[in-house]
Amino acid sequence: KSGFVSIVGRPNVGKSTFLNRVIGQKIAIMSDKPQTTRNKVQGVLTQENSQTIFIDTPGIHKPKHKLGEFMLKTSRNALREVDVIMFMVNAEQAIGKGDEFIIELLQGNKTPVFLIINKIDLIHPDQLMKIIDSYKDKFDFAEIIPISALQGNNVENLLTTIEKYL
Ligand code: GDP
Ligand code: MG
Repeated sequence: KSGFVSIVGRPNVGKSTFLNRVIGQKIAIMSDKPQTTRNKVQGVLTQENSQTIFIDTPGIHKPKHKLGEFMLKTSRNALREVDVIMFMVNAEQAIGKGDEFIIELLQGNKTPVFLIINKIDLIHPDQLMKIIDSYKDKFDFAEIIPISALQGNNVENLLTTIEKYL
């Protein structure tokens, strides 16, 4: 099995930390190779039964810019070309405008979206339940997976779950 996964999320939620953990050194080699005009390969994870290509979706990282219809369409189309979208958020932060912008882009997309709640090492379990509830109302996520990209908590489970969608 093989497939594409796009990681989207506000700056500093831990996207690079996650990629470094699962792919390590290879990122540096891959990150400057433009793959298509829309997507940029960040790295390739080879597991026993699968190969997962992590890509960057330009345009979705800039919630502060006013995007024209064209750019919005481009970002939306890029998100249709992947098997899984990982929408990563910071467990310490309530939903912000940047998150809502991304959720808006994801609406109407048929690609399964995983809500990845990162940095769970920094919060109390009660807080995790609260943040899960607040996001559940906003979007129909295929999976909701709390992780710590830094410490590795639940990352294996996430990778196994991704495999099922490839
Ligand atoms: P990006 O902008 O989404 O790529 O975020 P980065 O991967 O650069 O991470 C931003 C900051 O958050 C860095 O200082 C990371 O060390 C930190 N960080 C990322 N993941 C975690 C996590 O799971 N736990 C903690 N405590 N810090 C994290
Ligand atoms: Mg980064």
